[in-house]
Amino acid sequence: MGQGIGCKIYENCGRDCTHCAAEEAKKKARKMEPRKTTIFEGTQAEKLAAKGLKNYETYKCPVCNWIVADRKLTGFKISNFCENCGQALETEVTKE
Ligand SMILES: [Zn+2]
Repeated sequence: MGQGIGCKIYENCGRDCTHCAAEEAKKKARKMEPRKTTIFEGTQAEKLAAKGLKNYETYKCPVCNWIVADRKLTGFKISNFCENCGQALETEVTKE
């Protein structure tokens, strides 16, 4: 069972995909706190700063780095789920 079918989630897990899919779903259903950062990071951020351009704060998915926050007048609105990978996200991070 599951032999010969490449697991799309963990290629070398040696288990069948039903197991991995269930594990993955469980992981993604558990809310994770989005990472507070800036839109541009690392060398990109340095280049931006060198040009004197502003780098804005945002929140990113802790799993895939997708931007998960919407900047509103009242603060950040965090998505319930990452649009890119489906990770469930903690939305209560705007309270500071
Ligand atoms: Zn994601």
